[in-house]
Amino acid sequence: MSFSGIPVLNYHAIDDQPLAQTRNVSVSLSAFKEQAAWLHSEGYTSVTVQELRDLLLKKKKPQGKHVLFTFDDGYHSLYTHGLKVLSEYGFTATLFLSTAYIGHAYGLKDFAFVNHDRQLSWEEISTLSANGWSIQSHGNNHVKMTIIDLKALAEEVRISKALIEQNLGTLVDEFAFPYGIYNKNVLDQLKLAGYKFAYSVHSGKLYPSSNPYRLPRIEINNMDTMDTFKTKVLTGYISPQNARRSKIRDIIYANASVKDMIEKWTPKFGFGNH
Ligand SMILES: [Zn+2]
Repeated sequence: MSFSGIPVLNYHAIDDQPLAQTRNVSVSLSAFKEQAAWLHSEGYTSVTVQELRDLLLKKKKPQGKHVLFTFDDGYHSLYTHGLKVLSEYGFTATLFLSTAYIGHAYGLKDFAFVNHDRQLSWEEISTLSANGWSIQSHGNNHVKMTIIDLKALAEEVRISKALIEQNLGTLVDEFAFPYGIYNKNVLDQLKLAGYKFAYSVHSGKLYPSSNPYRLPRIEINNMDTMDTFKTKVLTGYISPQNARRSKIRDIIYANASVKDMIEKWTPKFGFGNH
């Protein structure tokens, strides 16, 4: 079977009682179970950290059908539901943590609604790590990294990496931009701090040609049906129109300085900031 890219799925919480504003960042437990079961029945396995590195750095394609589950922020529901469901099918995941909130409620104005699903504790995070999950950085305070000064930016990437490495004794060199937002300064600081890979929230599947600091992810949320989920997994996109726009954006935004200039001078360019 020829290699057809790896769908990198982007989840947040697994929440059966989402409020209207949480629908964008959660999936129900039943939907999550159905999605994992379908992937398993179709022969998908989790891509390992090593396979991913070989794919991106050595252009070595893994055999078989692979998927990558990723979770942002670090909600407790990943421990109560996510681990159990994924383990049942032999899947693992990558968790991108906002380290300042570990063990607490999320604490951000726009995420106050997830108070019933507090952030994971270090003990729970250690259990996920021991079960094969890769624990990586989503910054420290979950801030928009393009609007803070350089010193704060350097601290965001340094502290989150150091905290996870100290607490778990594992390597942290992957980053997921909070809100998917980044610019050249952010990439420069990530590289200085020793990060090798960064994920955004723009769609598409992951290929050997993918930019290591602009890796695609496909967001899965409560608005997905099994049909839209399958389309996202199989194509990497929500629709053909989404695919066209994303492919053009990937070419234009390949250079972060060009991306910054376009966003500065043409805010209504229509491609969004991802
Ligand atoms: Zn986030």
